[in-house]
Amino acid sequence: MKFLVIGGAGYIGSHMVKQLLRAGHELVVADNFSTGYRSALPGGKLVELDIADAQALDDVFAAEHFDAVFHFASFIQVGESVTEPAKYYRNNLAATLTLLQAMVRAKVKHLVFSSTAAVYGDPVYVPIDEEHPKAAINPYGRSKWMVEQILEDFDRAYGLKSVCLRYFNAAGADPEGQLGERHEPETHLLPLILQAASGRRESITVFGRDYDTPDGTCIRDYVHVVDLVAAHALAVDYLLAGGASTAFNLGNGQGFSVQEVIDTVRRVTGQDFCVSDAPRRAGDPPRLVADPRKANAILGWQTQFASLEDIVTHAWKWEQKHPWH
Ligand code: UDP
Repeated sequence: MKFLVIGGAGYIGSHMVKQLLRAGHELVVADNFSTGYRSALPGGKLVELDIADAQALDDVFAAEHFDAVFHFASFIQVGESVTEPAKYYRNNLAATLTLLQAMVRAKVKHLVFSSTAAVYGDPVYVPIDEEHPKAAINPYGRSKWMVEQILEDFDRAYGLKSVCLRYFNAAGADPEGQLGERHEPETHLLPLILQAASGRRESITVFGRDYDTPDGTCIRDYVHVVDLVAAHALAVDYLLAGGASTAFNLGNGQGFSVQEVIDTVRRVTGQDFCVSDAPRRAGDPPRLVADPRKANAILGWQTQFASLEDIVTHAWKWEQKHPWH
């Protein structure tokens, strides 16, 4: 099969590229390198473009016939989306609309779209299934939910079939140590703790110990990046076999608290580091845990690295060989 991977130089996209190449597919990777890294590209043919550029997209679609598109390119910082909403609506929403229109013009009928658990907002119940009310509480989550709704309309109007994958907390790294998480600035819990463990950062701050959870810290469903990309591969198979447009939650169905993540890092790495406490971060729900049964049942998705130890071990391997030390 031949696929276009947009945002293939980013954290999750680069792991996807590696897995698709290994499965023998032909790839074109498109990235504008606004947050991705050339060194993260495991292979494939590279096209440097911005999906806001309709002509550049038309050129790519005219040059190659794709069986499907994977769309990973988006801005992902919740806090930034609150202070700079225009950036999020322009890139995550408007530029994605430009991409969808180019796909319609080129008659490319299948899309796997990176969505997020942030579409649900503050959970009304956990674990969260796909039918849970969509009430995003920030522009990041709203931009993704708007795209999901546009995709429903594009299916009805143009027959564009899509799978929206709602990620819970993507974490971990390529077990072979070739790829990993690299955000500037880093805001995610696990890489920040690992930077404290390796000495790249003085300490880690816990945002809130007064939540209604067993140890008072927030609970999240951490899902290994290799398991995430495996779900994308199953999703594209599902679409190419004639599957209807739909959405799936991607998580393990198991939550770990911030304190449990810190304890696991100490145990796995054997390193001690300073932990300081700070007030709650705005917009953090106490508990976000996926009900992944729909992806299990329809895609046949089973996670390979559900244990936090595996996630931390692989991410630690990447932190230790960090190429920019
Ligand atoms: N968190 C923390 N300290 C940090 C970064 C994150 O205590 O320096 C907490 C955060 O409040 C949340 C959890 O770790 O409860 C996961 O946050 P992250 O930003 O990694 O992902 P999110 O759940 O926001 O998508």
